[in-house]
Amino acid sequence: MPSSNPFRPALAKMQPYVPGEQPQGGKFIKLNTNENPYPAPAAVTDAITAAAAAGLQRYPDPTASSFRRQAAEVLGLPGPEWILAGNGSDEILTILVRAIVGEGQRLRLPYPSYILYRTLADIQGAVWEQTAFESDWKLPAAFGEGDEDLRLAFLPNPNSPSGTVLPPEEVLSLAERLPCPLVVDEAYADFADSHCLDLVRQSDQVFVTRTLSKSYALAGLRFGFVVAQPQLIAELQKIKDSYNCDTLSIAAATAAIASTDWLADNVAKIKATRSRMQDRLTELGFNVTPSQANFVWCQHPHKSHKELYEQLKRSQILVRYMNFPQWGDGLRISVGTDDQADACLLMLSQLL
Ligand SMILES: *Cc1c(COP(=O)(O)O)cnc(C)c1O
Repeated sequence: MPSSNPFRPALAKMQPYVPGEQPQGGKFIKLNTNENPYPAPAAVTDAITAAAAAGLQRYPDPTASSFRRQAAEVLGLPGPEWILAGNGSDEILTILVRAIVGEGQRLRLPYPSYILYRTLADIQGAVWEQTAFESDWKLPAAFGEGDEDLRLAFLPNPNSPSGTVLPPEEVLSLAERLPCPLVVDEAYADFADSHCLDLVRQSDQVFVTRTLSKSYALAGLRFGFVVAQPQLIAELQKIKDSYNCDTLSIAAATAAIASTDWLADNVAKIKATRSRMQDRLTELGFNVTPSQANFVWCQHPHKSHKELYEQLKRSQILVRYMNFPQWGDGLRISVGTDDQADACLLMLSQLL
């Protein structure tokens, strides 16, 4: 950088967040970024077509009220004022960090988990600290302890890359012990046996974030939201861009969240394939962490995970190789269609 670097010092020090590969050419079986392998409900495309036909010359509804009304009804929330919509749940996470964590203040995350929380802290000039999961993916009690300098804690639940879940009772007691709000990132909750939405009524220290990217098969749409008590949502509202969700995505998201039968059906298919993948990976000699998400974390006792990843990639199968310093590495394989899963498992059986 030249001596006239105009950027804030926090930027010079930080590493950029690197999302999973999105190859733009070639025919990959793509099992690396936990996308849904099935197309979204037809109602979504119909809603986009209708919204586009009505014209885009006006600004969108700044608060995505049609979506929030529909979501409140589907999720059994008291009303739309409990929801803030965003341009993907990543934007929601950004809003939360900007709203709550000041420069030099601390936020906490478990390790290994979603790396983006660290990036958001870095951008803010805040300090992140990690608490390592225990070997069975339980959280040590220390995760719930801290002083007033600790401003925010993140808990992906189900966690990535493990797919493991802390039950709501444990999450509530964690929230009660922490000196700061807790963001429960439920990107994968629709694939799990439990969720923490009810906790927001019991505690003004809990924010629950959701996304349409995974269980609603809309990663390309960019739509997520946060659920919390109305007085908290009102504060977050001040931070967001005026028009953070566009007309087409609001129409699509409203149709998606109403598609409850489609969701149940899709989740059932993903869970069935997940269970087959887990069984077969175990037969192949992997240590498989039982997953409540749409991916499987597996580690082989002898083989190099990096090499397996590279060999799979050469045969046009993309999985995620993840290496967590001081912790270990492994493969995170998204649950695809049965055919995609079979192709991946067959190739792995040949490589081992
Ligand atoms: C995928 C993912 C998100 C991001 O969701 P978007 O709505 O696509 O931004 C957030 N948190 C976790 C843990 C995720 O895996």
